[in-house]
This record gives sequence, structure tokens and C-alpha cells, in this order.
Amino acid sequence: TAATPLSSLSADDLASRLDDARADYKALQARGLVLDLTRGKPGPDQLDLSEGLLRLPTGHKDSAGVDVRNYGGLEGLTEMRAIFADLLGVDVTNVVCGGNSSLTMMHQVLTALLLKGGPDSPRPWSQEPVVKFVCPVPGYDRHFTMLAEFGIEMLTVPMTPDGPDPVAVRALVADDPTVKGMWIVPTYSNPTGAVCSAEVAAELMAMPTAAPDFRILWDNAYAVHHLTERETKSADALGLAVASGHPNRPIMFASTSKITFAGAGVAALAASTDNKAWYLERLSLASIGPDKVNHLRHVEFFGTADGVRTHMRKHRDLLAPKFEAVDAALSARLGGLGIAEWVAPTGGYFVNLDVMDGTASRVVTLAKEAGIALTPAGAAFPHSKDPNDRNIRLAPSFPALEEVELAMAGVAVCVELAALEKLTS
Ligand code: PMP
Repeated sequence: TAATPLSSLSADDLASRLDDARADYKALQARGLVLDLTRGKPGPDQLDLSEGLLRLPTGHKDSAGVDVRNYGGLEGLTEMRAIFADLLGVDVTNVVCGGNSSLTMMHQVLTALLLKGGPDSPRPWSQEPVVKFVCPVPGYDRHFTMLAEFGIEMLTVPMTPDGPDPVAVRALVADDPTVKGMWIVPTYSNPTGAVCSAEVAAELMAMPTAAPDFRILWDNAYAVHHLTERETKSADALGLAVASGHPNRPIMFASTSKITFAGAGVAALAASTDNKAWYLERLSLASIGPDKVNHLRHVEFFGTADGVRTHMRKHRDLLAPKFEAVDAALSARLGGLGIAEWVAPTGGYFVNLDVMDGTASRVVTLAKEAGIALTPAGAAFPHSKDPNDRNIRLAPSFPALEEVELAMAGVAVCVELAALEKLTS
């Protein structure tokens, strides 16, 4: 039988339901749980999939005979770049492989744009009276904190299931030359799991911008992180940008952080010839070359991009049951009540949970007091301020399956209790 929406219950029914929810919450607290759904870290079982890396590389030369132990090779090992090129659907000549963190590469790019300007910049961004960025929300907290650190103003646009709302983006960038760029996580976005369609990507690459040096930081952190058998391909950002006459607009980022080791993977940047040369010029002042031993280790481990794809199916087998457990626990308690919305993602690392307006912080507090750590409410918004106090990011990858089940049953109790408190206040 379908559940009755809470909004259609009488005051008496709501009051008795509140009593039940309070009793359930007391019982939850009494269990003394210690569970953590805060960050999208791979679980230990996922890390074990790449244990073989620790015994690699067996050789110390790349296919061109370069000794990987030495300095040099600023753009990274060609074979590693070729694997990323295949996975990201770009030409190998456009790819740079670096250290273990793509976030670091994003930070380098942003810093260089501010201090030096890009290939099409009239002057460094820091010399503009103000710099603004378009930020699809909910989005990745570290993107926003990076902009906040630099004093870049954040203009939010809604993230739809097909990517950032292109009409809203267009309106922000068309006339204001201080709007210099935007973030996007195009595939299995953090946190909604949205996949940017080819149509939306084409619009973003083609739209007129008042800033001649507008940049789209295309953070494809979850490009190959499918949770179903449907292995959705990312839109061809670089190709679309060339086709619409803005080859320098996108700068693409990715890494193997959630493919091999989150702390010891390989990060990559892909961009136009001009952007790549500009990036390498800056990088040459900061480094004599990346960790090519780690590149070779990854090349030996995977062989080809298909090796990565096969490996990702093993991750999927470990992760999919955890995501199913999240959906099952939420559906079991909250389905039909009209107080929460979520979408079971088809990839990535997160489940985006929207609770009743004005109750997200309360849910997080209730969960905390029952021993369940959740990402702070509002984290997916600039300056951590969710205007509706409704958004909660759930990260089920790290805890064991039974822990995800326990934690999510508990979260569902908290969501219902917070809604009932609000409806009866
Ligand atoms: N981008 C997004 C969207 C992420 O979710 C994450 C990891 N949480 C990163 C980048 C970090 O990537 P890396 O480990 O390569 O720095």
C-alpha cells in the first residue's frame, strides 16, 4: 500500500506519528552507532583491487626508451597520456599527465589565470575589478572553497539532470565581462549524479560570452565510474569547443584517484594546443617533470584504456550494492511521504538527498547525535549556504555494506523526525 503524504495527515495523526518517530529515534540512539557517510573515499576493498600496483613497475623505461626514474618529460609518459586520451575521448597530443591530484592541477590553472591571465586574456584576472564564476548547484564543495579563497564571486545556476541549466548560464555570461569561467562536473556530477548531455555541452561551448577568455573547468572526475551496465560516454567538450570557434574555452581534468589509489593515482589535464602550451610553460617553472615511475606503474597495470574499463567494472560490483542499499533504506521509510527526494545515480560516488525545506541542518544534527556522521548541510553550495536548507550529500562508498544499510535506515528516521517536528511546530 502506498504511504500517505505527511502533508495530508490531520493534526492528530501527525502528532501520533511524531511520537512514533521520536520513539524510533530514541531506539536508534540507544544502539550507539559510530558510522560515517561524509566523504567519497574508495573503500578498502576497492583499494585492494589495485594492490598489484605496489609491485610495479617491473621495468624502468617507457616505449621510447626514456628512463622514467630520471628528471624530464614534463607532459607525462606518452603511454599514460594515451590511456587518458582514450578514456576522455580526446587526442593524445592534448593531454598532460601530472602528479596524483587533479584538484592540484585545477588550482594551478586558476592561480595562473589570476596571476598571468590565459592565452586570450586582455590582462591577468586579478587585475580585473572583480572576477565571477558560474557555479552549478548543488556542486563539489572543493570547487567552491577554492574560489572563495581567491575572492572570486560565485553565481549559482541550477544543475538539471542534463547538466547546468544552459539558459541560466547564458544569461549570466552574455553581457558581463567579469564572469570569467564556470565549473562543471560533466559526468556523474558530484553530488547529483547528473550527466551533461551533448546538447547542453554544445550550448555551453558555443554560447557568446562577454569575457574573451571565458574558461569552462570541465572536471571529469567520474568519467568512467559507472554504477550500471550502461557506460555513458561524456560529451566531447574539446571537439564541440573547436567546432563552435572557442577552442580554448574548456580545460578538462581527470584522475585515477577513484580508479586505483585515491592518494597515489595519476591526474590528467586535457586542453587545446594553446592552453596546453600555456599550462606547460607555467608548470616548467614549478617542476622538472612528474612522477613517471607512477605513470609507468599504471601503464603496466592497465595496459590500455580497455584495461581501465575492465577494472572499473570490478569497482562497480563493489559499489552498486551500497548505492542500492541507500535507495532501499530511503524508499522503505520515506517513499510516498512527500518529504524527501533523491535519485538513484547511475554512476559516481554520491547520492543527493533533498529533504523538506528548512530541515537539512536538523537532519544532520539528529544523525550526528545518533552516531551517524553526514556531510554538513549546505556543503554543496558556495560558502556552504544552501538557501533552502534542504540538500544533503550522502557518500556510501567507504563504509561496509552492512554499515551503509544501518546508517541509511538511521538517516531515514532522522529525515522523517525532522519533517514531523517542522510540520507540527
Ligand atoms: N573533482 C571532483 C568532482 C571530485 O569529487 C574529487 C574527489 N572528491 C576530485 C576532483 C579530486 O580529485 P583528485 O583526487 O584527482 O585531486
